[in-house]
This record gives sequence, C-alpha cells and structure tokens, in this order.
Amino acid sequence: MEFVNLHAQYLGIKDEIDAAIATVIRESSFIRGPHVDEFEMRFAELVGVRHCVSCGDGTDAIYIALRALGLGQGDEVITTAHTWIASAETVTQAGGRVAFCDTEDEYYCIDPLRIERQITPRTRGIIAVHLYGQPADMDPILELARRHGLWVIEDCAQAHLATYRGRVVGTMGDAATFSFYPGKNLGAMGDAGCLVTNRGDVAEFAALFARHGGKGEHVMEGINSRLDGLQAAILNVKLRHLRRWTAERQHLAARYDELLADIPGIRTPMRRAECEHVFHLYVIRSQRRDALRERLHERGIPTLINYPKALPFYPAYAYLGHTPADFPVAYRHQGEILSIPLYPELEASQVEAVADAIRSFEAPAPRRPAGVHQTRGVAAGSSKRD
Ligand SMILES: *Cc1c(COP(=O)(O)O)cnc(C)c1O
Repeated sequence: MEFVNLHAQYLGIKDEIDAAIATVIRESSFIRGPHVDEFEMRFAELVGVRHCVSCGDGTDAIYIALRALGLGQGDEVITTAHTWIASAETVTQAGGRVAFCDTEDEYYCIDPLRIERQITPRTRGIIAVHLYGQPADMDPILELARRHGLWVIEDCAQAHLATYRGRVVGTMGDAATFSFYPGKNLGAMGDAGCLVTNRGDVAEFAALFARHGGKGEHVMEGINSRLDGLQAAILNVKLRHLRRWTAERQHLAARYDELLADIPGIRTPMRRAECEHVFHLYVIRSQRRDALRERLHERGIPTLINYPKALPFYPAYAYLGHTPADFPVAYRHQGEILSIPLYPELEASQVEAVADAIRSFEAPAPRRPAGVHQTRGVAAGSSKRD
C-alpha cells in the first residue's frame, strides 16, 4: 500500500494525459499560451470567482497575494500555528511579521475566538488555511476582519472545491491561493499554483508582479513565477475529473468513519456543520500515536504526520520565543495526529485493512479468560464451537 498512489491516478486517465502532453510538445506552447489561458479561465469558472492568475506554485501564490494586498515592512499578519510553513514564511519574505494563532480542537483550523487578541495596530490581515480539506470558520473571521479593517487571504492548497455554508472556498477572502503540487486534490505533474480573487485591483497587480512587473512595459519590479504549458494542459485534463475524485475521497472518508467509529482511543475527523470537507488528508488522533504508527508500518501501511510540530515550535520561529502554553491546542495535536492513506483510487479492501490494523492495535480482541465455560454453567458449556 502507498500513502498516495499518483501512478494509479495517471493510469486511470492515461490516454487523455498523453494526448495533452503530445499537443503541447507539437505546438511548443511551453510558456504562457493557450493551455495556460484556458486553465485560468476554467479554474476561475469552477471556483466561481472573477479572476485567476496562475503562477509557479502554491507558495508563490501566497507571496504574490501578500504583495498584491500591499504588505509592507513590519506589517503583521495573523496565521494559524498549525499548517504547512508556506502559510507563514511568505509573510516574512514579503517583509511582514508573522503572528501565530492557536487552532480549534475539533477542526484543526485557526480559532476565530483567539484571533482578536493577536490584533495590534500593525496588523494588516489574516491568512486562513482550510487545513486537510476542512474549511476554516470563515464567517467570524470575515466579521473580525471587517471590524478591524483587515484583509483576508484563504490558503486553499488542501481544499479544492470544499464549501463553507454554501460558498466555495476561495470566493470569500480578498484573495485565495491554490497549490497544484502533485499530491494535492488537484495536482499537476510538477509544481504549479494560482491565486484567485474577485478584486480587479488584486488580480491586475498579481498578474503584473508575477511576470517581471509587466511584459514589454515594466511598471514595477516583480518576480518570475509562471505555470508552464505542460502543467496547464495536464491540469485542464484533470479538472474534468476533480468532482468525481472529490466524491471518491468523501466516500472513502465516510467508510473510515464507519470502520473506526467505535474504537476506543481513536478520534476520527469531525466535519464542520453546513460545510463540505474534501479530505485532502484523513487525520485521526491517538494518545499512543507513535506506537500505533509503528504498528501500521510493520503491517506495510504508510502514514504521515501533518505536521510533526506546530510552526511556532520549529527552529525557524525560535526567535519569536513561544512556549507550548501559547498554543496549547496546536501543541497537544502535534503529538496525537496521524494521517492515514486516503486517495480516490484507494480500494475498499485497503481501507478495511488499514482500519483492521488500527483496531488490532487500539482494541485487541479480549482474550477469553480461562475457565469461562465452568463459571457460565451449562448454557456456556454447551456451545462447543467456541
Ligand atoms: C501545499 C501547501 C502550500 C504550498 O504549495 P506548494 O505548491 O507546495 O508551494 C501552501 N499551504 C498549504 C496549507 C499547503 O498544504
């Protein structure tokens, strides 16, 4: 068993992918060109936003969004303590300062109740990450932002097509960013990313900034971050399958829920009410996480820890001087979370094998105590097939 089987996904759509790649090579449309234009148009349409600006990867997308929103030297941005480092390092790259916020116990996303105490006169915005495919609690986040005059970036790298109270993620903030890293719910065959927004000013700045500040006329200095034609053509093929793959992820997640429901010591993922979780990752919790993980590996079941530490506790952020007491929820989670295999091509029998292995570790079948037949008397003694 593999944690993610990208080759199985390729085999399922091999003819379409091979044809798309051959077309790009025949046309030599390697940089920009019709496939990139088509992808930007179709992805904007799929998410339901006015603008999509493609770029090199999901990390660049956040950096570009921060620059487009005018982040300046020393400006502060509030982001979640529990995420991939891209949702924080880009703030520093853009000249800003990271302010971490603790997470929700049930949903692993930034805790809106704890955001306000991080707000200072230098705060400019909030990065909300829809972690594991679960939407962050956007209504209170947007309300706080409105009240304090802050912008909001949605980091949708793990949440393509997830919905929050009827709204697709990526449509609610001032800008939203996506990653198409190969293992993401919509993945290229290399690096790729994009920014989406309903704000014309943000889209215009982002498109210029990501392309050296404008081709022909450089109205400013920018960076070079682009989606290439091959990746765009591959993504155009995969876009057609995204809804089906998402439904398959949700179906398998529901099966795990069922199989793991009554195992003491295992906590399965919660879904926020009125939201659609798209299960980029299926993350369980166990107090005996490390031993459980080892048992699963012995049985040939790969797992990951997303992520081994909350960001404030990595050496990269030691300069902030945080202690576990500053982020009690994220700190506790880092010792308990475990991501188990989940991808659309995973077979029902494999889901069962994973669940069996977890059950055998956490809730081994109780051994029948010796002498049970005598103590139970005639009725028990008569059932010889035991
Ligand atoms: C993957 C990811 C990113 C970065 O995307 P890349 O394409 O790898 O640069 C950003 N944020 C989160 C939450 C991610 O999971």
